Amino acid sequence: MTKNSFPCVRLLFAGEATSPTAFGTLHGARLSGVREADRVLDRMEAVERMAREIGRIAVVHEVNGGGGGGGQNQFGFK
Ligand SMILES: Cc1cc2nc3c(=O)[nH]c(=O)nc-3n(C[C@H](O)[C@H](O)[C@H](O)COP(=O)(O)OP(=O)(O)OC[C@H]3O[C@@H](n4cnc5c(N)ncnc54)[C@H](O)[C@@H]3O)c2cc1C
Repeated sequence: MTKNSFPCVRLLFAGEATSPTAFGTLHGARLSGVREADRVLDRMEAVERMAREIGRIAVVHEVNGGGGGGGQNQFGFK
C-alpha cells in the first residue's frame, strides 16, 4: 500500500494554495484538483482491495469451521 492509497485518510485538500510550484495561478488550482482526484481514486481502489481481502479471509475461516453460531464468522458475514 502506498502513502497515497492509505484508505483511512478522508479529508483531501485541493486549490491553488496547495500547489507547491504553481500557487496563485489557475494552472496550480487545476493541477491540485487532478492530484486530489487521483488520490480519491487510489483510496477507493484500496478500500475495495481491503473489502475483497476481508471477504476472502472470511470465506477461508468459514471453510475451516470457524465462526460463531448461526453460520456467522468472526466478521459477522454469513
Ligand atoms: C483578479 C484576479 C486575476 C487573476 N488572474 C489570473 C491569471 O491571469 N492567471 C492565473 O493563472 N491566475 C490568475 N488569478 C488567480 C486564479 O484566479 C486563482 O489562483 C484560482 O482561481 C484559484 O482557484 P481555486 O479553485 O484554488 O480557488 P478559488 O477559485 O478561490 O475557489 C475557491 C472557492 O471556494 C469557495 N469557498 C471559500 N470558502 C468556502 C467555504 N467556507 N465554504 C464553501 N465554499 C467556500 C469560494 O467561494 C470559491 O468559489 C487571478 C486572480 C484574481 C483575483
